[in-house]
Amino acid sequence: MKKSNDIKVFISNRDSICDECGEELGRRAWITLERDKGALCLTCADLDHLIFLPPGDAALTRRSRKHSTLVAVVLKWARARKRYERQGLLVESQALGQAEQECLADSEIRARRREREVERRAELDEQYVKHFAERVRECFPGCPHEREKEIAEHACLKYSGRVGRSAAAKSLDEEAVRLAVIAHIRHAKTNYDELLAMGYERREARDQVNAKVGDILTNWET
Ligand SMILES: [Zn+2]
Repeated sequence: MKKSNDIKVFISNRDSICDECGEELGRRAWITLERDKGALCLTCADLDHLIFLPPGDAALTRRSRKHSTLVAVVLKWARARKRYERQGLLVESQALGQAEQECLADSEIRARRREREVERRAELDEQYVKHFAERVRECFPGCPHEREKEIAEHACLKYSGRVGRSAAAKSLDEEAVRLAVIAHIRHAKTNYDELLAMGYERREARDQVNAKVGDILTNWET
């Protein structure tokens, strides 16, 4: 079941800046390294929809991996041992959900799942989500019913972790709303994630799905 070309995510051990969006990511940022580029934040790398799964439960890990189109291995430099060590995986939330379902007999997992849901809720700023969802609906009236909430929640989680430059306020402008919708369409309506999982460079993968994304975007705009 092991995919040979897992994407690698590194936990940085110094102050990092994303080479694409220029965001200051602070210390211990989670980044990817791309050919011809330096560090990329997980948002720019299109991996910020994945959920961290710590090690410790072999069955849960195995099942999550099996159900997830995209899997990233999280690595951290261990100074004492002078090598990268695995910290766990990033998997799709619906894959983790399905894996948890299959492991439900285990009460420990039930407890962990509740905890995760509580944490997620705590991070969501209800006002922000509502406002962002309204902006999505305004700009994309053809977007499927309730879909604007899903997009808004994701945007909210993304900006809640960001520091400085009033990131949240900035995120409500039209261009940011458009980018959030495009990211959603890529993940939800095209085989973009599969292409990444197959080892495609991000640019190539985007080129492959661009036309389809454009079509759907046009549909939603009216
Ligand atoms: Zn970035």
